[in-house]
Amino acid sequence: MENWSSDRKLAGSNGDWLERLSNALLPVSDWSDAIQDIVQRVADGVHLSLDDGVRLYEHPNLHEVGQLAHHVRTSRFGNHAYFNSNVHINQTNVCVLACRFCAFRRGPKADDAYSMDIQEYIVDLERYAPYVDEVHSVGGLHPDWDVAHYESLFKRVREEFPHVSIKALTAVEIKHLGQLSSIPTKEVLRRLHDAGLTSLPGGGAEILDDDVRSIICNGKESSEEYIRIHREAHELGIPSNCTMLFGTVESLAQRVQHMILLRELQSQTSGFQCFVPYPFLPDSSRLPQAQLATGSEVLRTIAVSRLMIPNIPHIKAYRMNIGDHVAELALQYGADDIDGTVQKESIMHLAGSTAPLDHDRTRLARIITDAGCQPVQRNTTYESFNVYVPPKPSPRRNLKMAQ
Ligand code: SF4
Repeated sequence: MENWSSDRKLAGSNGDWLERLSNALLPVSDWSDAIQDIVQRVADGVHLSLDDGVRLYEHPNLHEVGQLAHHVRTSRFGNHAYFNSNVHINQTNVCVLACRFCAFRRGPKADDAYSMDIQEYIVDLERYAPYVDEVHSVGGLHPDWDVAHYESLFKRVREEFPHVSIKALTAVEIKHLGQLSSIPTKEVLRRLHDAGLTSLPGGGAEILDDDVRSIICNGKESSEEYIRIHREAHELGIPSNCTMLFGTVESLAQRVQHMILLRELQSQTSGFQCFVPYPFLPDSSRLPQAQLATGSEVLRTIAVSRLMIPNIPHIKAYRMNIGDHVAELALQYGADDIDGTVQKESIMHLAGSTAPLDHDRTRLARIITDAGCQPVQRNTTYESFNVYVPPKPSPRRNLKMAQ
């Protein structure tokens, strides 16, 4: 599959992936008795229920759940693993909210509060622009920056760096801009799209359950508002990602229900490109009652999400959060996309991430090829793809392993 369609809905998938999947999974008697009915539904292209998702979480054989998810991933994408070359610029850490899990935000008077004006942002991006085709920008809810500020910023980015796509602003930032500018969120999105916004990142979904949200991020957008703002973006032709922050105070059923809500919106709009599940990192944050997630739980959550949300094409191993080692394994547990040559990132690193930021394409390709996959560089919106052929490994790295 080296001739990719530029169809945004397929987003790099094989057009006949459901048929391939069915052939790969049957007969169901090859699978454990406990999940044969689920395997049959996956093979039939039937959406799994809340109960199915919880059973997959509770199934004692983690490897089998991963194998099932891996079949979905390989039916869609073969052994390709997608990445892009981007830079994260977090424009300000000043935030009018104080979500309990957040290690990034600062009050406006804090010694280490910062707000990059447009010129500072451009100078920062200029250092990375020759190496990237996407800038990923999210930040705090600044008390003074309204929609006009971001229109000016995005126009300037597009003028100075026309090859750089702008993936920016989470749903709560869109809501905040609407409040500051006294306009509806759809109008915020329309104006920002006109100014050059390419897509929305999916941050801020946390768990789409208002009981959980009232504990971990009181004051942030509600579940309904998150879904509505992404729906509005999709209606305007702005694709988006969606996320899930797990391992705080939620139950397994609340995780699965979160996936179902995203799946339902996707059935109506087809606007989500990628689902990005990541665990809460405890070190510098403030949520002592968080349950935290183990490595196995991270892999299982990636696998369950691949199975619960088959209509969102890509599942990302977000190495900024889960680290390179788990991200590599995740490519065998349902993930097909891996965060790229990121260069710079603040939010996860302030929360305790130790994922390296200095990967060039060769180092990233090593992670991907060691997982038995072929690296494919993509653009922001998954419409153009190039197989990346890494240089041969040095003779010192010549251990023969089965792949
Ligand atoms: S998560 Fe976002 S909205 Fe919440 S405090 Fe942090 S920066 Fe502010």
